[in-house]
Amino acid sequence: MKSTRVGVVGGGLAGIAAALTLADAGVDATLLERRPRLGGLTSSIERDGLSFDNGQHVFLKCCSAYQAFLERLGAMEQVCIQPRLDMPVLTPSGTLGSITRSRLPAPLHLASSLARYRYLSIKDRIRLVRAVVALRRLNLIDPSLDTVTFGDWLRQHGQSQRAIDRLWNLIIQPTLNVTADQSSLALAAQVFRVGFLERSNGADVGWSVVPLATLHGTNAERTLREAGVKILLNTSVNSVTPRSSGGFTVHTRGEDLAFDAVIVSTAPRVAETLGVLASERHLAERLGASPIVNIHFVLDRKVTNHSMAACLDSPIEFFFDRTDASGVTSGQCLVISLSAADRYIGIGTSELVPMFFDALCELLPRARDAELLSAVVMREHAATFRATPGIESLRPSTTTAVPGLFLAGAWCKTGWPATMEGAVRSGNEAAAKVLDFRSDSGDSGSQDATHREGAVS
Ligand SMILES: Cc1cc2nc3c(=O)[nH]c(=O)nc-3n(C[C@H](O)[C@H](O)[C@H](O)COP(=O)(O)OP(=O)(O)OC[C@H]3O[C@@H](n4cnc5c(N)ncnc54)[C@H](O)[C@@H]3O)c2cc1C
Repeated sequence: MKSTRVGVVGGGLAGIAAALTLADAGVDATLLERRPRLGGLTSSIERDGLSFDNGQHVFLKCCSAYQAFLERLGAMEQVCIQPRLDMPVLTPSGTLGSITRSRLPAPLHLASSLARYRYLSIKDRIRLVRAVVALRRLNLIDPSLDTVTFGDWLRQHGQSQRAIDRLWNLIIQPTLNVTADQSSLALAAQVFRVGFLERSNGADVGWSVVPLATLHGTNAERTLREAGVKILLNTSVNSVTPRSSGGFTVHTRGEDLAFDAVIVSTAPRVAETLGVLASERHLAERLGASPIVNIHFVLDRKVTNHSMAACLDSPIEFFFDRTDASGVTSGQCLVISLSAADRYIGIGTSELVPMFFDALCELLPRARDAELLSAVVMREHAATFRATPGIESLRPSTTTAVPGLFLAGAWCKTGWPATMEGAVRSGNEAAAKVLDFRSDSGDSGSQDATHREGAVS
């Protein structure tokens, strides 16, 4: 009996995870990626011998699938994870607050930090308890959570606009890539429950200490090849069609390839053009897109000791020290990360750079004496879907109406926001479905072709 041949279209984190899981289970997997590299929405560019990521990526300790993925890639040494959540919060007036955790069990681990959180009045700090208790009581699988915004829910639970702006949004904006007033309660509640309220170390922050192109690209390519996955880079897939003899033909610009099963792990818009998602549903358009802008500054000297910080009363939301990761050997490289960046995405580099360098100097007085050696702006128009109410009912499962054809990607229904964790989970799940499909069809890859007409409904 011949073994199942599986094509995985798209070499982002979802596609890499899917292909690796399949290869580890002994499946003949081929990964087709239109770009010359793997890693999808996590990438880096080289400029004057330095490396700049397309966007600062962080993960939380609760992101278990992503960390297992890094482990499989042999890349855990190339990330750092805070021993204990410690997020400094700076303002231009020089105030330094922080969100930290203690050794106490959740949710008490945050209590002393929030009780001292200087950016909220004492009344607002006391009122946090009400929202935390209510968040713990929410039934996360209740579909009505996806019909209201997190902002409205917070107000109903005693939170002032100041508390939303100065605390809740510090978490929601970078994790959901929309503000609390825009976000679906369903996804916001999931972030707080899993990250902050279920276990004490869930929100310890981790990030890559090497360029993303190395962390996900180079490491994945090596690991996949060692596992026996065929990787076809620079291979753009034009369509995926069922064959009357069974299986699928994947049409690329160069050649047509035959597979018994296919996982499409591209962005939703591409899945529509490949004929895998029914285009009349306009799913890609309805999932929407939310932008992220990152501005990298290379300075001739060190201007801060913080490895990362959140900022209030400033257009800067977060900055991270990327000196070692970028290859800067003297001075400092800081990246400013702007999520839910609708208001900045259309602004040109010549305007953004002085605007944000001035803002940096206001936050970090030592930057005023520094020389700005170079600045690189990275814009991602469709960094994530828009996590607004209704989003969860739109996200498709990894199974399609067509046997043998599966979807993967951070936009699939994973219960997680559009994150690296969500992408890896969807890839793992799609691979598991292929393995089930293989057992159902007796590992022969052949099945009734009459079921293969049409796309996902
Ligand atoms: C700037 C930015 C910052 C972010 N920050 C964070 C963060 O801090 N934490 C976090 O967890 N997540 C973050 N994310 C989100 C995270 O990067 C994504 O959710 C995740 O990488 C998506 O992976 P994916 O595999 O689902 O999709 P993608 O990465 O989009 O992969 C799809 C792949 O398909 C390929 N492809 C497309 N069309 C074709 C075709 N026709 N033929 C073959 N291949 C094709 C593409 O080239 C791509 O490689 C951020 C994203 C961005 C852009």
